[in-house]
Amino acid sequence: MSDFPPDFLPQNFLDSHFLNPDRSNIEEIRRLGYTFVDLIVDSVLDTQNQAFVQDASSFKIDIPEHGDKLSNLLAEVRSQILPRTVNFQNPRYMGHMDSVPTVITIWADALVSAINNNMLSYELSPVFTQIEAQLMQWFGNLFGMGTDCFGTLTAGGSLANISALLLARNWKQPPSKRLGVSNNLVAFVSEAAHTSFEKAMNVIGVGKENLVRVLTNHRGEIILEELESAIEKTIREGKQPFFVAAIAGTTVTGAVDAIQAVGKIAKRYDCWFHIDAAYGGAGIFTPKLQSLFQGCELADSMTFNPQKWLWVARTCAMLLVKDKQYLIDGFDGELPYMDDRALNFGNLNLQGTRRTDSLKLWMALKVMGVSGCRYLVERSLDLSENLQQWVDDSTDLELVCKPTLNIVCLKSSDLKLSSMALRQQWIDEGKLWLSLPLWKGERILKAVVLHPYAG
Ligand SMILES: *Cc1c(COP(=O)(O)O)cnc(C)c1O
Repeated sequence: MSDFPPDFLPQNFLDSHFLNPDRSNIEEIRRLGYTFVDLIVDSVLDTQNQAFVQDASSFKIDIPEHGDKLSNLLAEVRSQILPRTVNFQNPRYMGHMDSVPTVITIWADALVSAINNNMLSYELSPVFTQIEAQLMQWFGNLFGMGTDCFGTLTAGGSLANISALLLARNWKQPPSKRLGVSNNLVAFVSEAAHTSFEKAMNVIGVGKENLVRVLTNHRGEIILEELESAIEKTIREGKQPFFVAAIAGTTVTGAVDAIQAVGKIAKRYDCWFHIDAAYGGAGIFTPKLQSLFQGCELADSMTFNPQKWLWVARTCAMLLVKDKQYLIDGFDGELPYMDDRALNFGNLNLQGTRRTDSLKLWMALKVMGVSGCRYLVERSLDLSENLQQWVDDSTDLELVCKPTLNIVCLKSSDLKLSSMALRQQWIDEGKLWLSLPLWKGERILKAVVLHPYAG
């Protein structure tokens, strides 16, 4: 470590990084904020006509001994970082479940950072603890999960699914929280379910091999008879089924399992019933899709990511539970350094210190209203119908299956042009950025129609 630079002045340094209580640098800090606003509006949002990725070369960091001038740093961000980002602002990007965030949630995210309250405990985030608790009940009610429903925001759907499996394990075998697990528990999800379920089985100590992946039909919906016979087989082998999930919006085809039927099977075998609606949950906002959510009242837990189909800037995901007691039983740590009579979210999920993402979500819902959410969801369904129509009208493309949500799977029907080659051609032409998932042994093309100006 060398010395400070010759021109280092502690007061100047402090004033560049914090507001001075004498307020002498307040205008400087404001100007810096405006610089960021310009950077975001001009160089991030206003790039809809630019390439999906301008510069695919690798980037090497270089941390200096002495801090750089801010103007140099911003110039480097503009010239070196932004061209290397994936441009979700481009309406022809439809690759994965990544939405362009609503403007309100971009600015709200900066507000969350500025306030920097901590969801660990009530005393560190009183108003956000209230907002998060009420939002969780609001969403739980929206899905019809019953009057005792509750939940917690999480840093993503994977963490919500992992948490659900942990709750299920502790519910089925209460001593496992203290003693670890005996290894005869078995969980059931469809073969189209997200990979986070494998991760979860590893985390909860039950093991990936005790996750049974049940066959799906050509659209990616779980086959109910296969689910039942898989459960029966497990019981015959002397093992204990403990967890069954239905998926609302599978990762490849956006299929929605028959929630009510899967829930009934789960209950018949005394299993925890989870619904992974990380993607599809937003469908609840439109009457066009509401019938798909019949049976949510059977769910013990549910995952939903507003950061996907509700256009909230990351991160914003949640785990809902039928009964708040599940979270208490599942996670009750102790916070000896806090008031433990208060509602402390740090005792209700796997994270400790956590951002107050509830502010972003609440602001988004307030400014759009329920009708605004419905409009955006329905609009994306309409845009994806246009895309389907385009595929239907084309002579060298075909649909892989009939879409349920705003996810369209297609493939090349031109024998001389593979879907993979077609995808690359479209990306090179700047025509469309689709993903290339493996589906039933074949590489296909997937479009997730989330951009409100897609097409
Ligand atoms: C996206 C997704 C997940 C994982 O959520 P992350 O936020 O990426 O961790 C889980 N399940 C489904 C169905 C998803 O679509």
